[in-house]
Amino acid sequence: MERQIINKMLPDGRICIHWFRPCDDGPINTEAKVIPTQFGPFKMGGVRGQIACNPTQNYLGPIERGMQRLMCHRSEDPRAVTCPTCMETPEFKQAMNEMANLQASG
Ligand SMILES: [Zn+2]
Repeated sequence: MERQIINKMLPDGRICIHWFRPCDDGPINTEAKVIPTQFGPFKMGGVRGQIACNPTQNYLGPIERGMQRLMCHRSEDPRAVTCPTCMETPEFKQAMNEMANLQASG
């Protein structure tokens, strides 16, 4: 049996991408990695935050279930988010407003 990757899909066929909201009291801490590059070592991850539509979720996945691998796609950049529930949160709307203001003044 082949391993199956399960993505949560939206009705319009796009993949559901949640908003990973960086916040100091979030239950998730992304794995910190140091990656050597030609510009010197880059530190990636090590960010504390939460999934906006499910603030108590304390993992990012993927989750292994038998031969199935359940993906939890997320982005720290609100512009990449497709999850309608994440987009409904006041924090998301505020982040998008702040981005619009940054772009307007930049
Ligand atoms: Zn979501």
